[in-house]
Amino acid sequence: MLAVALVAVITVLWWVCSSWREAVCGRGAALLPGVRAPLLLIAHPDDECMFFAPTILTLVQGQRPLSVLCCSTGNYYNQGEMRKRELVQSCAALGIAPSDVTLIDHSDLPDSPTVKWDERLLSSLILHHIKEKNVDLVITFDESGVSGHSNHISLYRAIRSLHSSGQLPEGAVIRCKKCYTEPC
Ligand SMILES: [Zn+2]
Repeated sequence: MLAVALVAVITVLWWVCSSWREAVCGRGAALLPGVRAPLLLIAHPDDECMFFAPTILTLVQGQRPLSVLCCSTGNYYNQGEMRKRELVQSCAALGIAPSDVTLIDHSDLPDSPTVKWDERLLSSLILHHIKEKNVDLVITFDESGVSGHSNHISLYRAIRSLHSSGQLPEGAVIRCKKCYTEPC
């Protein structure tokens, strides 16, 4: 009887661990063969851990040199300076070196749920970063910004525009939050 109970406990533990591992790093790793320089494109400090932590862990565990481009300081409550530091600390906890974290602090890209960022400006800044870092995979929000935040949606529209207009470097791939399993 004790042995049966023990096997049952082990089976449940194995199932839980397997499910967790699959959710965190299994499926994503298989979807990203040959990626050299992935970029996580976010709007605010904390987006990385709130929306993309499993993706980050997958890439970092796969020994990929993931970089992060954050397009604002997240200054909606006048806490931009603190949030800048928190972004670096959060990324470090997730396995991303401070040197691989870039933050844009531009007055025309305010942290606001009601402001759509200028597509031309945003696209230009993102494209510059992609070329500078030789990025071959961009991961960002979907068309609804996951949470509906206007700044998140602006990122989707900017990267979509770059893709549609053929400005992305040859071979660069986009993945967004919702359609992570398929090309956008
Ligand atoms: Zn955000």
